[in-house]
Amino acid sequence: MWRSPGIFELKLHRNGMPFVPGDCVALFGSDEEESRPYSLASGRDDQVMSFVIRRMPGGVVSTFLSERKPGDEVRMSPPFGWFRPGQAEGNAPSVFIATGTGIAPFMSYLNSFPERPPVKLLYGVRFLEDAVDLDRLQDLCDLRLAVSGESVPGYHHGRVTGLLEQVPISNAVHYYLCGLDTMIDDVTIWLEKRGVPVTHIHRECFFNASYGS
Ligand SMILES: Cc1cc2nc3c(=O)[nH]c(=O)nc-3n(C[C@H](O)[C@H](O)[C@H](O)COP(=O)(O)OP(=O)(O)OC[C@H]3O[C@@H](n4cnc5c(N)ncnc54)[C@H](O)[C@@H]3O)c2cc1C
Repeated sequence: MWRSPGIFELKLHRNGMPFVPGDCVALFGSDEEESRPYSLASGRDDQVMSFVIRRMPGGVVSTFLSERKPGDEVRMSPPFGWFRPGQAEGNAPSVFIATGTGIAPFMSYLNSFPERPPVKLLYGVRFLEDAVDLDRLQDLCDLRLAVSGESVPGYHHGRVTGLLEQVPISNAVHYYLCGLDTMIDDVTIWLEKRGVPVTHIHRECFFNASYGS
C-alpha cells in the first residue's frame, strides 16, 4: 500500500466487478452502515480495484480504511457514477484538471485507455509527496504539476489555477475537473470567460473548502 502522511492507496479484490473509468463505489466504515463514495483509480482491465484516499482528521470512514491490513474485509457497493473523463462526444480531445485525490478518476482513465491521453493534465497537490504515481502519469501524458505548500524545482509553486494559461481553448475540447470545489468553481469561471460552452465542462466535487479541508 502506497502512502504519504495524508494520502494512502487502498487495494481491494475486484471479484469480476465491471466498472467504467470515472465510477465510484461506496465504501463502508467499521459499523458497516455508514459509507462514503470513493472514485476508482485502477483501470477497467486490472485485477484489483484501487483507490486514492485522503485521511481526514477525525474522519469516520477514511480513518477506518487507512487502518485496514492485508486480508481485512471492506464492505463495498456496486460501482456507480456519471463523471466520464475523456468519454464525451465519441472520445473528443480532453483536458483533465485535478486537485489532491481528485486525480483518481483520471488515473482510472489513463490506466484504461493509455492510447488516448488527454491533451494536458494539470494536477495540484499541497506537497510533492502527495503526488500519486507521478512518474507513471508523466510517462502517460503531458502532465503539469502545481505544488502549493512548498517550492519544488521544476514544478509550479502555487495553486493549480496558476497553470491555466497552458490550457488550450477550443470548442473541440472537453474539460474535466475533479477535486476541491473552489478549484472547480474557479476553473469553470475561467473557462466560461473564454467562451467554453458549459456542456464541455464536466465536474466532480470530492471536497468542500468551507468544511475546513
Ligand atoms: C463523488 C465523490 C467521490 C469521492 N471520491 C473520493 C476519493 O476518491 N478519494 C477521497 O479521498 N475522497 C473522496 N471523496 C470524499 C469522501 O467521500 C469523504 O467525504 C471523505 O473521505 C471524508 O469521509 P470521512 O468519513 O473520513 O469523514 P467524516 O467523518 O464524514 O468527516 C470528518 C471531518 O472531515 C471533514 N469532511 C468530511 N467530508 C468532507 C468533504 N467532502 N469536504 C471537506 N471536508 C470534509 C469535516 O470537517 C468533517 O467534520 C469523494 C466524494 C464524492 C462526493
